[in-house]
This record gives sequence, structure tokens and C-alpha cells, in this order.
Amino acid sequence: KSLVPFVGLILALWFYSKDDLKPEMLKEKRVIVTGASTGIGEQMAYHLAWMGAHILVTARTEAKLQKVVTQCLELGAASAHYVNGSMEDPTLADDVVKRAKQLWGGLDMLILNHISPTYLKYFDGDVEHIRKLLEVNFLSYVAMTLSALPMLKESGGSILVVSSTAGKFAIPFVAPYSATKFALDGFFSSLRQELIIEKVNVSITLCVLGHIDTETAKKTVGHVFWLPPAPKEECALEIIKGGALRKRELYYQYFAVRTSLLIRDWAPEYLDSRTRNHFIVENVKRS
Ligand code: NDP
Repeated sequence: KSLVPFVGLILALWFYSKDDLKPEMLKEKRVIVTGASTGIGEQMAYHLAWMGAHILVTARTEAKLQKVVTQCLELGAASAHYVNGSMEDPTLADDVVKRAKQLWGGLDMLILNHISPTYLKYFDGDVEHIRKLLEVNFLSYVAMTLSALPMLKESGGSILVVSSTAGKFAIPFVAPYSATKFALDGFFSSLRQELIIEKVNVSITLCVLGHIDTETAKKTVGHVFWLPPAPKEECALEIIKGGALRKRELYYQYFAVRTSLLIRDWAPEYLDSRTRNHFIVENVKRS
């Protein structure tokens, strides 16, 4: 009986040490980060850089990517490169993965993070906007995964899919964006099951993020959302940690997101109403 606290302590220490990101885990790893010219993607590139990874960043704006690459090299990246282009172009996903193969001969981590600009307003019936968002925010993620899987299978690598609370429960005024994030959960959660059944050693981490203080979020959501945003630098590190530890899902901010998900299944109407109350509805545009 007297051994119980001792065993508890050992288990707690084991649990916490297991759940820790050690920078060596990323050293010399070959990583693609999409949507890394700004925001959370840019911050992930900098974290990977100081940990000594090989980095390939993507986005549309070449000048910004050049700056990110320079900064990554200064921070200590093993190597840093970019590919610029729009994920609306269905050939780009494969081109990016081919570039990684040409540079490094393999790949350890694929971080899917980019999103097409969108709005926060009442749904205005613009189906073309949904089509574009599905292409950029969803189909290009699938295409990159398909191209990268052979290399990831070889390395026992990981796929990180950056999603949102808007991909887990109902948030108003973001219907097109929300649709693409729910689609990611459906596709990648199903694919994860198949990889496990086939004993393929590739992990998939779905990253469910709350409100983060990127410039895009400040511009889009700042004037209509009550809750304060969390820092993008910390968020970026948590995503990398979740992927390196091969978690099934990663929640940031953990407590708020986890609580919402628990309520979602037991009291969805309450969660709906609590979520609506986070918005300054008078400030939301109709068209
Ligand atoms: P940003 O707008 O800062 O970054 C988006 C990135 O995607 C940029 O690098 C942008 O670069 C690139 N991009 C935009 N359009 C395209 C395109 N057509 N083809 C290729 N790349 C493109 O976003 P955040 O950092 O705020 O968000 C990052 C991720 O986190 C997203 O998946 C988002 O859904 C998720 N998230 C963010 C939250 C937040 O509050 N910030 C909350 C929940 C989830 P460029 O314009 O140069 O192409």
C-alpha cells in the first residue's frame, strides 16, 4: 500500500517526460510548411529553424517567402528553400512535393496550413467562393498528402493538418471556411483509420485552434469577436509539438477548446448559444 504514491509519482513523471518536445526530435528533419509567408505558418518555420530542421516553405508571395527563408537560415535551419504559387493551381501540390524530393531525397513532416482569404459575414450565397475555398483549403491538402505519402511511408513521417474550432462545431458567419475545415476532419480522420489498419507508420495530427493573433485574424475577426486572441508564436510551437509527438488531435487553446468539444456532444444547443454570444452581431456585415 505504501508503494502507491511512489508508483503514482513515477507514472506522472513518465507521462510528463513522454509528453515533451525535445528540439533534437526535429534536428535534420525534412519538413514542408505550407502557407508560411505570414501568420502561424511563418512562426512554425522559425521554430523549426532554431531546432535545426531542413525547411521548404510555400505561399503565393515570393518576396515574403524570401524573407522567411533568410530568417530561417539565420536562426539555424539545416537548409531553407521556398516554392511560390497558388494552391488554386492543381499542379502546385505535386510540384512542391517533387521539389522536396529533389532537395532532400525524402520527407519527414508535411505541415498543411495555408488558407485562401475569406470573409466573416452572413452567408451571401456566393457558391463560387465556396468552390475556391474547397480547392485551396481542402483539395490541395488531399493532393499534397497523396504526393507526399510514398516518402512519408519510407521515413515513418507525419502529417499535420491545421484546422480550427470552426471545423469541429458551429460558428456563425464563416460558413464557406467552416465547410472546408469540417471536410479536413472527415477526410484525414478516415485516412488515419486506414493507415492504422494497414499498419502504415505515418501519423496524422489534426490541429484544432481557437482564436490566434495573426494579422489576418485581427483584420477579419477583431471587430466582431469578444474573446482575446492567443499568441501565434506559442500556437506554432504547440502544433509542431503535437506533430512531433504524433498526437491524434492537438487542441490550442487546450482548456477552452476541449470544454467546447465536451459540451458539443452533450448539450449542443447550449454550445450554439454560448458561441453566438461571443460575437458583436451588430458589427457583422450582411454583404
Ligand atoms: P494567414 O492568413 O496569416 O496565412 C495564410 C497563409 O496562406 C499565408 O502564407 C498566405 O500567403 C497563404 N495563402 C493564401 N492564399 C493562398 C493560396 N491561394 N495558395 C497558397 N497559399 C496561400 O493565416 P493564419 O496564420 O491566421 O492561419 C493559419 C492556419 O491556422 C489556417 O489553416 C487557419 O485556418 C488556421 N486557424 C487560424 C486561426 C486564427 O485565429 N488565426 C484560428 C483557427 C485556425 P500568400 O498570401 O502569400 O499566398
